[in-house]
Amino acid sequence: MILEKKKSTCSYCGVGCGVLISKDKKGKIKVEGDPEHPVNKGMLCSKGMNLHYVVEDKSDRLLYPQMRWGKGHALEKVEWDTALTRAAAVFKSMIEKFGSDAVGYYVSGQCLTEEYYLVNKLTKGYLKTNNIDTNSRLCMSSAVMGYVQTLGEDAVPVAYEDIELADCFLVAGANPAWCHPIIWRRVEMQKERNPETKIIVVDPRKTQTCALADLHLQILPGTDTVLFQAIGRCLIEGGNIDWSFIKNHTDGFEAYQEQVMQVSVADAAQMCGVPEDQIVQAATYIAGSKGFLSMWAMGLNQSADGVNKNLSLIDINLITGHIGKPGSGPFSLTGQPNAMGGREVGGMSTLLSSHRKLHDAAHRKEVADFWGVEDLPSKPGLTATQMVEALEEGTMKAIWIICTNPMISLPDARRVENALKKAKFVVVQDISLHAATIPFADLVLPAAGWAEKEGTMTNSERRISYLHKSVAPPGEAIPDAEIIIRFAKKMGFSGFDYKDMGSVFQEHAALTKGTNIDISELDYEYLKSHGTAQWPFVSSAQSGKARLFEDRIFYTPNGRAQIKISGPQSDLEALTPDFPLILTTGRIRDQWHTMTRTGKVNKLKKHVPIPLLEIHPEDAISRKIGDGDTVEIKSRRGTVRVRAQVSESIREGVVFLPMHWGKILGADFAMVNNLTGNAIDPVSKQPDFKYSAVEVMKY
Ligand code: SF4
Repeated sequence: MILEKKKSTCSYCGVGCGVLISKDKKGKIKVEGDPEHPVNKGMLCSKGMNLHYVVEDKSDRLLYPQMRWGKGHALEKVEWDTALTRAAAVFKSMIEKFGSDAVGYYVSGQCLTEEYYLVNKLTKGYLKTNNIDTNSRLCMSSAVMGYVQTLGEDAVPVAYEDIELADCFLVAGANPAWCHPIIWRRVEMQKERNPETKIIVVDPRKTQTCALADLHLQILPGTDTVLFQAIGRCLIEGGNIDWSFIKNHTDGFEAYQEQVMQVSVADAAQMCGVPEDQIVQAATYIAGSKGFLSMWAMGLNQSADGVNKNLSLIDINLITGHIGKPGSGPFSLTGQPNAMGGREVGGMSTLLSSHRKLHDAAHRKEVADFWGVEDLPSKPGLTATQMVEALEEGTMKAIWIICTNPMISLPDARRVENALKKAKFVVVQDISLHAATIPFADLVLPAAGWAEKEGTMTNSERRISYLHKSVAPPGEAIPDAEIIIRFAKKMGFSGFDYKDMGSVFQEHAALTKGTNIDISELDYEYLKSHGTAQWPFVSSAQSGKARLFEDRIFYTPNGRAQIKISGPQSDLEALTPDFPLILTTGRIRDQWHTMTRTGKVNKLKKHVPIPLLEIHPEDAISRKIGDGDTVEIKSRRGTVRVRAQVSESIREGVVFLPMHWGKILGADFAMVNNLTGNAIDPVSKQPDFKYSAVEVMKY
């Protein structure tokens, strides 16, 4: 017999599917898709369908706080009070001796919004440093800057309901069939309903997403900006732009036109490594559409040229007026379940609460007054990779890592290892015994996991969902929010007396009042009973706003969208005879991030049980590599050893490795970030995971 069903949201990707969690009389947990949820209407992908295994299996969980008394000592079990007293003593002493910027937090797009809000308030308001960054820096920072520069703010303008209203999709640097499956299912259904719908895919790999494509532009990695501008040129030359929209609602068209006319379509085709007629065809499909959605993910964002790629894609929507109307708009596919919620609370080193600007003194004062603190630091904090540098150099002394596994997920793993070894004090707050940072931790704090705590998250379409607590956390694990509050109190900070998570949410909501993401009238109890609401959500509305900019007024100072030219292209790592191939990395269908959860579900492991290097037959033949052979991949940073998968799905000259694997049997020979480097986008500071020079040899 099934007892009460509690509503929650899947804890994996940014699609944000609704689930129902129930327990039978024996305590066995069941997770099913919520048929009433507006996102997935009962559907779940393979990862969502197997969430119950992750909740039930406590075998790999951290159960109690552990501490080492000195660097050479072993971790020992301690009481919560001892652990947090020590953390507070060390943080106070570091700040006193070296200043506030000697400490910092590295958190996660999987944190709940309330957790994010609290740690951001603690860091910026009370520790007086902006050194709080998150693994969202690895995920969405370039998209954020793309939106800010064109639309005036980090605001995804579309809603999922636009999928059913679009008749042309351009999917670039994304494999939603595997990585955002429920969104893709909705696209598939749209194509089934309306077979004339055109789907253009831009990707150096022929992924599962291409199975639905009318056109696949298999470009050379790093050339997306050239491609999008060439499409822009074709649209201009064909007279297929929206002059009225450009004239009345945008700035910057002349400069854009001048830039795109500098490269002929034929030259662009050569640079991108695709036939010229494919570029023309893509423009023809867009020109013929009533509703045009551009969709993208990490292929554009995780690049040293990430912001340029975002700008040049958003420009296509702007010159054709495909924004603020049904079925149209730029639509970044969020990687993590709550990357957007984290940005809403300003939980990154370059952001401020409720999309306020960190560099604006008036905005800082508004937040400081709201929190009842004297001021907020004005200097931007360290971003994810800058924290690694600062720990290595010794200018940052202490780092507190929450719900993320940077030893596996950050680029140039050896450098991360070196930085963590040099840190004076490392706190790891996690659910998993297998977090690869634990060997470097001075303090390990066990956190409650998904379904073991309550709070909210925001998905890719600005939809805030409430997640019920359904089961008790194991051992002495407690919710991340409670750990942050207890630590703040140990530090002697006032301002952390909360009745419950609802009061944290309401404080965050009140801080959004008057901003473009205003949810000040959104009640926690409303979310608990209705489940979800999109932002903005203001008093006059019965529900949140699905589509932004229908009034054609943008969030820029003059209300006009900005068509942007691209800045100088960042240097790509040189391909040389020693390192002639381009390595690109990404997800596989059934694994998530560093596999601390999905890696323990046998059903999910069956899909791709071992890491494989995808390599084109021509590249394999010239290296005498056969399918299934063990190969060694070398970059200027390190090596990886895996089996080869010889496949025509990947472009010649490019190889692909999955991002998920860390240590296997204690060795990190399959860890892709042994190979990746330190290139970052100069504007967004997002690391590049899509272009590393490598060589591959039979092992
Ligand atoms: Fe979860 Fe994303 Fe799959 Fe939906 S599509 S079930 S949110 S992993």
